[in-house]
Amino acid sequence: MSGAPDEFDLIAQLFAPLSASYPGAFNLTDDAALMDVPPGRQVVLTMDAMVAGVHFFADDPADLIARKLVRVNLSDLAAKGAVPFAVMLAAAFPQGIEAEWLRAFADGLGQDVAEFSIALIGGDTVSTPGPLTLSLTAFGHVPTGRALLRSGARAGDLIWLSGSLGDSALGLRARQGQLTDLNPLHRDFLIHRYLLPQPRVALGPALIGVASAGMDISDGLVQDLGHLARQSGLAAEIRLADLPLSVAARTATENNNSWLACILGGGDDYEIAFTADPAQTQRIRQLADDSGVALSAIGQMTAGQGVAVMDRQGKAMEVAQRGWRHFSNAGEQP
Ligand code: ADP
Ligand code: MG
Repeated sequence: MSGAPDEFDLIAQLFAPLSASYPGAFNLTDDAALMDVPPGRQVVLTMDAMVAGVHFFADDPADLIARKLVRVNLSDLAAKGAVPFAVMLAAAFPQGIEAEWLRAFADGLGQDVAEFSIALIGGDTVSTPGPLTLSLTAFGHVPTGRALLRSGARAGDLIWLSGSLGDSALGLRARQGQLTDLNPLHRDFLIHRYLLPQPRVALGPALIGVASAGMDISDGLVQDLGHLARQSGLAAEIRLADLPLSVAARTATENNNSWLACILGGGDDYEIAFTADPAQTQRIRQLADDSGVALSAIGQMTAGQGVAVMDRQGKAMEVAQRGWRHFSNAGEQP
C-alpha cells in the first residue's frame, strides 16, 4: 500500500478492529449493524460534527482530533445519564490525505474506544475537495423513562457543575498565542483541556434518581444554562464566587478581568450542569468523593426566566459575552 490506503483498506485494516467487541457490527463487513438493547433500557442517541478550521485546527494531532470527536459526543450522553456503548463515524477526508495521518487518527479512535469500553459499529467514508469533516453518532442506554432531560428542573433546585470551568476557552486563547505571561505549566494544562476534553461518563449514570435535569456545557455556561432554564420554564441564578476554577484558570483571570467572559461564555468545557433538590446535597457530595470528579453548587433555579450572574456582593452582573452562538459568530473559533 503506497500513499493513502483506499477506502476498503482503511475500513478493513484501521477501523474494523475497533468493532471487534460488538458482534452486531459484523467486523464492518456488512451494509449495516444490528443493535440489541438490554431489557428495560432505552437507547440515547446524539451526533456532533467537527470541521477543520472551525472546530479544530487542521494541524492538531490526528489522534487528538479523533479522541475529541469521541469525547464531545460521550459528554452529551453523560449529560442524559446514559452509559455509552457504540459510535458510528461519517468521515469526509480531503483528497490526498496521508496514510500516516489516517493511522494516527485510527489509533486515537482506538484508544478512546478502549478507554470508554465502546465499539465503532459502522459509518461511511467519503473524499471531499473541502476541509476534513467528521461526524460521529454515539449510542448509550438509560433505564427506560429515566434519562436526565433539560426540562426537569424545579424552582428551588440547586444548580451543580462538574469539574472546572473556562479551562478550554482559555486554552484556545493560549494556543492562539495569547496569555503569554502565564507560566508554561498552566498554559500546557489549559491547552490540554482544550485538545482533550474529559467526558463525565461515570458521573452521568450515577446522577439518575439524584438530578432533576442535566445538560452538558459546550457553548458557554451562561448560554447553555439559559437553554436548561427555558426548557424547565424557570430562571437560573448563579454566583460568580462559587464557579469552580482550576488553579491555571484562576491565575489567568486573577489580574485580568477581561478573561471573565471566557469563564462565563467560553465554549468547549464539556462539563455537566445538573439541577437537584437541596435534599440530595449529601448524596451529591458523596458522589463527588466516590467518583473523584469535583461537583460544585453554583446557584439555584427560581421562578422567572433567563440567567442571572451574581457578583461577590450579590448584585446581578452584566454579561458581555453570552457564549458562542453558532453561525452568527462565524470565524471567532479557530
Ligand atoms: P456502502 O457501500 O453501503 O456505503 P461501505 O462500503 O461504505 O458501504 O461500508 C462497508 C462497511 O464499513 C459498513 O459496515 C460501514 O458501516 C462500514 N464503514 C464505512 N465507513 C466507515 C467509517 N468511517 N467508520 C466505521 N465504519 C465504516
Ligand atoms: Mg452497502
